[in-house]
Amino acid sequence: MQEGTSGPIPKPAFRVIVDELPKSDDPDNVYDKRDLSEIKAIVVHHTAVPPSVDAWRVAKAHVEFNGWPGIGYHFFINADGTIEQTNWLETVSAHTKGQNRYSVGVVFAGDFTNVVPTPAQIERGGHLIAWLMQELKVPVEWVRGHKEMPDQTTACPGDQWLDGQRWHDMLFRRIQAVQDGQLSGRKTIGHYMLFWWRSPDFWAQKDWENAQNYIRHFRPTCGFLVDDAMQAEYVTIVGGVAGVSWQDEQKLRMAGCKVERLAGANEEETKAMLDELVAAGRRFKTFDV
Ligand SMILES: [Zn+2]
Repeated sequence: MQEGTSGPIPKPAFRVIVDELPKSDDPDNVYDKRDLSEIKAIVVHHTAVPPSVDAWRVAKAHVEFNGWPGIGYHFFINADGTIEQTNWLETVSAHTKGQNRYSVGVVFAGDFTNVVPTPAQIERGGHLIAWLMQELKVPVEWVRGHKEMPDQTTACPGDQWLDGQRWHDMLFRRIQAVQDGQLSGRKTIGHYMLFWWRSPDFWAQKDWENAQNYIRHFRPTCGFLVDDAMQAEYVTIVGGVAGVSWQDEQKLRMAGCKVERLAGANEEETKAMLDELVAAGRRFKTFDV
């Protein structure tokens, strides 16, 4: 598979354990291979056993009891949110009877008959699926629970998928959030006001002074570090792209921040914009909060 550089969703961290897992020792009992272009669906499963049962034990069961060449799933999402790749995407493994040729199997460890996956599983699993959709060009209508696939008679991925707590909805909300660029979890800062800085002798001193009226009124967290601003739900960038760059602005948006840039043609115009907001009692020009 190509590296995850074809779209804006970064590749999630996962451990590749394909070659470590138990396999059939019959050389004729091997899974078929496919071209990645054949893939059109992502199928969500549960292991239907306690979440302490890991990928190794599931692989062993699939090989020894089911007689399969290896584990049926492509990805395994543990209860703590860690992810393992358990088959190559080119492998036509056994997870959804009759529909394996064109589908990728993602399993969440646990039995979701009465409970739902952990928040970490939803968060990391949703990121993985959003990334797979991007890389494999799978549309949202082809991301399905096992029982929603054609011709299946199974409760997988558990009764809580479409009923009760509906973890289908939790997962799809997370997928949507990742697609919207909200990768990290909850933000710890409400509003960060970001000023540019190059050196102790060359920084946004004028903007800093001009913003005092605004700061006094709205009391945002103020500073010069993009990495800190990424922790904020809202970021006001003060000044043009010659200061805080367009790339840094993109980085903030990718981190899920709602970003507004206040930049006049010069520092006086920027000050006027800030003072107008104060006069209007508005923290932002474009956001209603
Ligand atoms: Zn299943």
